[in-house]
Amino acid sequence: MSAGAHAAAAPAAASGFGPSNPFYEPSALPFHAPPFDRIKDADYQPAIEAGMAAQLAEIRGITENRAAPTFENTLIPLERSGQLLERASAAFNAVTGADINPVLEQAKTALAPKLAAHRDAIFLNAKLFARVSAVYKARSSKSLDPESVRLVEFTYDLFVHSGANLSDAQKAQLKTLNEEASTLSNAFTTKLLAANKNAAYATDTPAALAGLSEAQIAAAAQAAQARGAAGYVLPLQNTTQQPALASLSVRATREAIFANSWNRTEHGDANDTRATIARLAQLRAQRAQLLGYPSHAAWKLEDQMAKTPQAALDFMNALVPVATAKAASEGKDIQAAIASQGGSFSLEPWDWDFYAERVRKTKFDLDDAAVKPYFELNNVLENGVFYAANRLYGVSFKERKDVPVYQSDVRVFEVDDVDGKPLALFYCDYFKRDNKNGGAWMSSFVAQSKLLGTRPAIYNVANLPKPAPGEPALISFEDVTTMFHEFGHALHGMFADTEYPSLSGTATPRDFVEFPSQFNEHWALYPEVFSHYAKHYKTGAPMPDDLVEKIKKSGNFDEGYRLTELLAAAQLDMQWHMLPPSAPLEDPDKFEQQALARTRLDLHEVPPRYRSSYFSHIWSGGYSAGYYAYSWTQMLADDAYQWFEEHGGLTRANGDRFRQMILSRGNTQDLAAMYAAWRGRAPNIDAMMKYRGLE
Ligand SMILES: [Zn+2]
Repeated sequence: MSAGAHAAAAPAAASGFGPSNPFYEPSALPFHAPPFDRIKDADYQPAIEAGMAAQLAEIRGITENRAAPTFENTLIPLERSGQLLERASAAFNAVTGADINPVLEQAKTALAPKLAAHRDAIFLNAKLFARVSAVYKARSSKSLDPESVRLVEFTYDLFVHSGANLSDAQKAQLKTLNEEASTLSNAFTTKLLAANKNAAYATDTPAALAGLSEAQIAAAAQAAQARGAAGYVLPLQNTTQQPALASLSVRATREAIFANSWNRTEHGDANDTRATIARLAQLRAQRAQLLGYPSHAAWKLEDQMAKTPQAALDFMNALVPVATAKAASEGKDIQAAIASQGGSFSLEPWDWDFYAERVRKTKFDLDDAAVKPYFELNNVLENGVFYAANRLYGVSFKERKDVPVYQSDVRVFEVDDVDGKPLALFYCDYFKRDNKNGGAWMSSFVAQSKLLGTRPAIYNVANLPKPAPGEPALISFEDVTTMFHEFGHALHGMFADTEYPSLSGTATPRDFVEFPSQFNEHWALYPEVFSHYAKHYKTGAPMPDDLVEKIKKSGNFDEGYRLTELLAAAQLDMQWHMLPPSAPLEDPDKFEQQALARTRLDLHEVPPRYRSSYFSHIWSGGYSAGYYAYSWTQMLADDAYQWFEEHGGLTRANGDRFRQMILSRGNTQDLAAMYAAWRGRAPNIDAMMKYRGLE
């Protein structure tokens, strides 16, 4: 019901939309690639609006069918619906994410509420649900193949999760709760934004900023100026720890910044979020009850790989002793570093990063300037990222200059399969631009589906530094890792080999989708791959061994701290969202303290990565009861890589088996069972502990 570009029903007439719009017909380019040479900024909005209207018309065609509901007359046309919407939205999402401008910005704002209403119009459509439900109930008596059964269950669950199963009175109640939840989430965001701004550290005394570089101090002066203030301002980041704490040598400054961060939303003023989150947690539990679940977490995890809150808890509980023991030993090193620098105080959270940085510098300082000449971007891409994929899966790559792109930095490769036949298009847009979102991501212009006859057109976006014209693009090892990571997502999309677009490629739950990407990161340091791409851009010389060693070791530095702060946040998330519907309004501070103590994560020197009162992932970012997924997928990635190590590493046989059993399967099978069938057992944390130096 989402992807595809083959012919759909004729789009309903909409203002400004007609045959001259490049989205009107499916693209005639290879792989149905978006015709960016013909698409103008003004084309997106009318196409997307016409696409919504067309899909609603297609759905009326399903619900008004007089014949009894069957898989063929309900699920299949539902999967086929919305193709105009999909091809326009896919291109629109790419350009708004990576190359936005005021026209696109305006279209995005105008479309957001319409797209939300469109989704409701489908998932709260009682006639449609009645048909889906009838097919669902009869699914075992029909001779449906396993992927079709999976589609029926997946689609039915989507409806049920949206509240389709409720009576009209309950639906009204759900609507009220959803509205209140949305108001509270918005209020949380507004308060946090203001609180973050107010909690910036300000000083008139440059001496307080000792340790920062000249550029950082100049930026702080500029930040003050932008606020119409004198002196210096260090704006606050979202996390508990602040980047500047690693450099600031004046302890009182560090303490003040940390206090600003920790208490940002707890001043008892208009920006205090505690009452908001307490009610939000309570409301989510009540909504879960209405939908038939014991807790918000139970509702959210049902369609995830973990399936139950208990499974996520068991995973975290197993990691806690190793993570906290490692953090404690890192704390000892840091306490020793404090003493060696003449300090006579006990390590506090605001000291950690500063002294950890000293420890890191003495143990294995990685000098970026020394490393980067060995990581020239094109070489990393073709002799590293592509090379590893070729050795594992037999695929090959050739650049296509004839496929139009949305921006001149974007490159396109055709990916050919083992038999030489075209498999996918791969676009990469690696360089930073001012009109590009931060970070890195993967998505698709066209998702694979046998039903729709579509093959994948996938893209990777990143924010790597763009060199001056004629200069090579030299990147850090972190950037190299990002390229392997995003390409792991790309492989998940390119190897997709499924019937239905809704189950294809990366259309998997949150606690699975980062598995192929994190897994692919492992090949960056695999000796045979590394030596193939890590060559000096001028001389072609391999990287000296001591540098390679430093890269390997520095990867696990401070891992105890990082994992402990992540687990503490993930546990706070899970504890809040396991509250029963009968729970009273909680006092957030007390609740947080007790939750951390109960889960053995109340380490004074290692506070949670986010405190409850400024944890925007879970209160407004859609990550509620899902923050554990970051570490969960790391477990899968490490466990999977260990299987490769046990079976001879980088071989075609290993790659083919992984592709066949995991990467091509999307969400067509129960993911825990799929994984266990490939691995020979359920995943566990042993490999994660080994690769992250936590044993
Ligand atoms: Zn990712």
